[in-house]
Amino acid sequence: ENDKKYIVLGDDYKGYPLNMFCVPKHYEDDLEHVLIPAGLINDRIERLAREIIQDFRHEAITGLCVLKGGYKFFTDLLDKIKALNRNSEESVPLAVDFIRVKSYTGTTSGEMTVTGIDNLENLKDKNVLIVEDIIDTGKTMIKLLEILQKYNPKSIKVASLLTKRRASGTGFKPHYLGFEVPDKFVVGYALDYNEYFRDLNHICVINQHGIEKYTT
Ligand code: 5GP
Repeated sequence: ENDKKYIVLGDDYKGYPLNMFCVPKHYEDDLEHVLIPAGLINDRIERLAREIIQDFRHEAITGLCVLKGGYKFFTDLLDKIKALNRNSEESVPLAVDFIRVKSYTGTTSGEMTVTGIDNLENLKDKNVLIVEDIIDTGKTMIKLLEILQKYNPKSIKVASLLTKRRASGTGFKPHYLGFEVPDKFVVGYALDYNEYFRDLNHICVINQHGIEKYTT
Protein backbone atom coordinates (compact mmCIF):
# COMPACT_ATOMS: atom_id res chain seq x y z
CA GLU A 1 0.00 0.00 0.00
CA ASN A 2 1.23 3.45 -0.84
CA ASP A 3 -0.77 5.30 1.78
CA LYS A 4 1.31 3.86 4.62
CA LYS A 5 3.46 6.44 6.30
CA TYR A 6 6.38 4.11 6.77
CA ILE A 7 8.56 1.74 4.77
CA VAL A 8 7.47 -1.87 4.74
CA LEU A 9 10.15 -4.53 4.38
CA GLY A 10 8.34 -7.65 3.19
CA ASP A 11 8.84 -11.19 4.47
CA ASP A 12 10.73 -12.17 1.32
CA TYR A 13 13.03 -9.13 1.60
CA LYS A 14 16.50 -10.34 2.51
CA GLY A 15 18.30 -7.02 2.52
CA TYR A 16 21.94 -7.21 1.41
CA PRO A 17 24.81 -9.70 1.73
CA LEU A 18 27.17 -8.85 4.59
CA ASN A 19 30.17 -8.56 2.28
CA MET A 20 28.58 -5.63 0.44
CA PHE A 21 29.01 -3.40 3.50
CA CYS A 22 31.51 -2.80 6.29
CA VAL A 23 30.77 -4.90 9.34
CA PRO A 24 33.08 -5.33 12.36
CA LYS A 25 35.24 -8.43 11.95
CA HIS A 26 34.10 -9.81 15.31
CA TYR A 27 30.51 -10.09 14.04
CA GLU A 28 31.16 -11.47 10.55
CA ASP A 29 30.02 -15.01 11.36
CA ASP A 30 27.10 -13.97 13.55
CA LEU A 31 24.80 -12.24 11.07
CA GLU A 32 22.41 -13.46 8.38
CA HIS A 33 22.27 -10.30 6.28
CA VAL A 34 22.16 -6.51 6.42
CA LEU A 35 18.49 -5.60 6.69
CA ILE A 36 18.79 -1.80 6.75
CA PRO A 37 22.12 -0.13 5.93
CA ALA A 38 23.13 2.82 8.12
CA GLY A 39 22.78 5.26 5.22
CA LEU A 40 19.16 4.32 4.65
CA ILE A 41 18.41 4.62 8.38
CA ASN A 42 19.89 8.09 8.26
CA ASP A 43 17.83 9.19 5.25
CA ARG A 44 14.62 7.87 6.73
CA ILE A 45 15.24 9.68 10.02
CA GLU A 46 15.73 12.94 8.15
CA ARG A 47 12.19 12.63 6.84
CA LEU A 48 10.74 11.68 10.23
CA ALA A 49 12.33 14.80 11.70
CA ARG A 50 10.55 16.89 9.08
CA GLU A 51 7.19 15.33 9.89
CA ILE A 52 7.69 15.89 13.60
CA ILE A 53 8.63 19.53 13.15
CA GLN A 54 5.62 20.11 10.89
CA ASP A 55 3.29 18.62 13.49
CA PHE A 56 4.66 20.40 16.54
CA ARG A 57 5.29 23.76 14.84
CA HIS A 58 6.16 26.17 17.63
CA GLU A 59 5.32 23.93 20.55
CA ALA A 60 8.27 22.83 22.63
CA ILE A 61 9.08 19.12 22.56
CA THR A 62 10.51 17.04 25.37
CA GLY A 63 12.30 14.16 23.67
CA LEU A 64 12.22 11.14 25.94
CA CYS A 65 14.86 8.58 25.07
CA VAL A 66 14.15 4.99 26.02
CA LEU A 67 17.54 3.53 26.98
CA LYS A 68 19.56 1.71 25.99
CA GLY A 69 18.33 0.60 22.58
CA GLY A 70 16.87 3.96 21.62
CA TYR A 71 20.00 6.03 22.07
CA LYS A 72 21.23 6.00 18.46
CA PHE A 73 17.84 6.80 17.00
CA PHE A 74 17.36 9.48 19.64
CA THR A 75 20.62 11.32 18.97
CA ASP A 76 20.29 11.04 15.20
CA LEU A 77 16.65 12.17 15.21
CA LEU A 78 17.45 15.12 17.44
CA ASP A 79 20.38 16.09 15.25
CA LYS A 80 18.03 16.22 12.24
CA ILE A 81 15.44 18.24 14.13
CA LYS A 82 18.18 20.65 15.25
CA ALA A 83 19.39 21.02 11.67
CA LEU A 84 15.86 21.94 10.57
CA ASN A 85 15.53 24.31 13.52
CA ARG A 86 18.54 26.34 12.50
CA ASN A 87 17.80 26.35 8.79
CA SER A 88 14.11 27.16 8.51
CA GLU A 89 11.65 29.91 9.29
CA GLU A 90 9.90 27.82 11.90
CA SER A 91 11.57 26.08 14.82
CA VAL A 92 10.62 24.04 17.86
CA PRO A 93 12.40 24.29 21.22
CA LEU A 94 13.79 20.94 22.33
CA ALA A 95 14.42 19.46 25.76
CA VAL A 96 15.69 15.97 26.46
CA ASP A 97 15.14 13.35 29.10
CA PHE A 98 16.09 9.72 29.51
CA ILE A 99 14.36 6.69 30.95
CA ARG A 100 15.09 3.02 31.34
CA VAL A 101 12.38 0.44 31.10
CA LYS A 102 12.80 -2.95 32.71
CA SER A 103 10.36 -5.79 32.33
CA TYR A 104 10.32 -8.82 34.53
CA THR A 105 9.43 -11.60 32.15
CA GLY A 106 9.56 -14.13 34.95
CA THR A 107 6.29 -12.91 36.42
CA THR A 108 2.99 -13.68 34.78
CA SER A 109 1.73 -10.14 35.33
CA GLY A 110 4.57 -8.85 33.15
CA GLU A 111 5.52 -6.15 35.63
CA MET A 112 7.53 -3.23 34.42
CA THR A 113 9.48 -0.47 36.11
CA VAL A 114 10.45 2.84 34.63
CA THR A 115 13.41 4.70 36.02
CA GLY A 116 14.10 8.27 35.03
CA ILE A 117 17.38 10.11 35.15
CA ASP A 118 15.52 13.21 36.28
CA ASN A 119 12.30 13.21 38.23
CA LEU A 120 9.48 12.15 35.93
CA GLU A 121 7.35 14.89 37.52
CA ASN A 122 9.21 17.18 35.09
CA LEU A 123 6.99 15.82 32.33
CA LYS A 124 3.94 17.65 33.67
CA ASP A 125 2.38 19.90 30.99
CA LYS A 126 5.08 18.97 28.46
CA ASN A 127 4.64 17.69 24.91
CA VAL A 128 6.45 14.41 25.28
CA LEU A 129 7.91 12.56 22.31
CA ILE A 130 8.91 9.04 23.33
CA VAL A 131 11.78 7.77 21.17
CA GLU A 132 12.06 3.99 21.06
CA ASP A 133 14.09 1.59 18.93
CA ILE A 134 11.63 -1.18 18.23
CA ILE A 135 8.06 -2.17 18.99
CA ASP A 136 7.34 -5.88 18.87
CA THR A 137 4.10 -6.93 20.59
CA GLY A 138 3.53 -3.33 21.73
CA LYS A 139 3.08 -4.40 25.36
CA THR A 140 6.06 -2.41 26.61
CA MET A 141 4.87 0.77 24.93
CA ILE A 142 1.29 0.47 26.13
CA LYS A 143 2.50 0.01 29.72
CA LEU A 144 4.96 2.86 29.39
CA LEU A 145 2.23 5.19 28.10
CA GLU A 146 0.03 4.18 31.01
CA ILE A 147 2.78 5.00 33.51
CA LEU A 148 3.73 8.31 31.90
CA GLN A 149 0.11 9.51 31.70
CA LYS A 150 0.13 9.63 35.50
CA TYR A 151 2.61 12.51 35.36
CA ASN A 152 0.08 14.62 33.43
CA PRO A 153 2.00 15.60 30.32
CA LYS A 154 0.19 17.93 27.91
CA SER A 155 0.55 15.35 25.13
CA ILE A 156 2.43 12.14 24.39
CA LYS A 157 3.53 10.89 21.00
CA VAL A 158 5.66 7.91 20.10
CA ALA A 159 8.43 7.71 17.51
CA SER A 160 9.81 4.25 16.84
CA LEU A 161 12.45 3.41 14.27
CA LEU A 162 11.08 -0.11 13.77
CA THR A 163 7.99 -2.19 14.35
CA LYS A 164 7.73 -5.89 13.75
CA ARG A 165 5.08 -7.34 11.56
CA ARG A 166 3.48 -10.09 13.56
CA ALA A 167 0.16 -11.91 13.58
CA SER A 168 -0.46 -11.48 17.30
CA GLY A 169 0.22 -8.58 19.61
CA THR A 170 -1.49 -5.40 20.66
CA GLY A 171 -1.44 -3.88 17.18
CA PHE A 172 0.03 -0.70 18.64
CA LYS A 173 1.28 1.68 15.94
CA PRO A 174 3.55 4.61 16.79
CA HIS A 175 2.77 8.11 15.50
CA TYR A 176 6.11 8.25 13.73
CA LEU A 177 7.60 5.08 12.32
CA GLY A 178 10.66 4.37 10.23
CA PHE A 179 10.27 0.80 9.01
CA GLU A 180 8.03 -2.21 9.47
CA VAL A 181 10.27 -5.30 9.47
CA PRO A 182 9.69 -9.07 9.27
CA ASP A 183 9.40 -11.04 12.50
CA LYS A 184 13.14 -11.77 12.87
CA PHE A 185 15.48 -10.80 15.69
CA VAL A 186 17.36 -7.70 14.60
CA VAL A 187 20.51 -6.14 16.02
CA GLY A 188 22.76 -3.17 15.38
CA TYR A 189 22.29 0.60 15.47
CA ALA A 190 22.11 0.33 19.31
CA LEU A 191 19.82 -2.71 19.26
CA ASP A 192 21.50 -5.51 21.17
CA TYR A 193 21.47 -9.20 21.83
CA ASN A 194 22.63 -9.63 25.45
CA GLU A 195 24.45 -6.29 25.22
CA TYR A 196 26.34 -7.29 22.05
CA PHE A 197 25.90 -5.75 18.58
CA ARG A 198 25.28 -2.20 19.78
CA ASP A 199 28.63 -1.45 18.15
CA LEU A 200 27.35 -2.38 14.69
CA ASN A 201 26.11 0.51 12.57
CA HIS A 202 23.70 -1.30 10.22
CA ILE A 203 20.51 -3.05 11.30
CA CYS A 204 21.11 -6.75 10.67
CA VAL A 205 19.42 -10.08 11.27
CA ILE A 206 21.29 -12.27 13.76
CA ASN A 207 22.00 -15.88 12.77
CA GLN A 208 22.02 -19.11 14.80
CA HIS A 209 25.78 -18.90 15.26
CA GLY A 210 25.44 -15.41 16.73
CA ILE A 211 22.64 -16.47 19.04
CA GLU A 212 24.67 -19.39 20.39
CA LYS A 213 27.87 -17.35 20.73
CA TYR A 214 26.23 -14.60 22.73
CA THR A 215 23.72 -16.51 24.79
CA THR A 216 24.76 -16.24 28.41
P1 5GP B 1 7.28 -5.49 23.02
O1 5GP B 1 6.83 -5.19 24.42
O2 5GP B 1 6.80 -4.48 22.03
O3 5GP B 1 6.95 -6.89 22.62
O4 5GP B 1 8.84 -5.51 23.07
C1 5GP B 1 9.59 -4.38 22.91
C2 5GP B 1 11.00 -4.56 23.39
O5 5GP B 1 11.54 -5.87 23.11
C3 5GP B 1 11.88 -3.59 22.67
O6 5GP B 1 11.95 -2.38 23.38
C4 5GP B 1 13.21 -4.31 22.61
O7 5GP B 1 13.93 -4.04 23.78
C5 5GP B 1 12.84 -5.78 22.60
N1 5GP B 1 12.88 -6.35 21.23
C6 5GP B 1 11.83 -6.84 20.54
N2 5GP B 1 12.21 -7.31 19.34
C7 5GP B 1 13.54 -7.10 19.25
C8 5GP B 1 14.52 -7.37 18.22
O8 5GP B 1 14.27 -7.90 17.13
N3 5GP B 1 15.80 -7.01 18.50
C9 5GP B 1 16.17 -6.43 19.68
N4 5GP B 1 17.44 -6.12 19.83
N5 5GP B 1 15.27 -6.17 20.66
C10 5GP B 1 13.96 -6.49 20.46
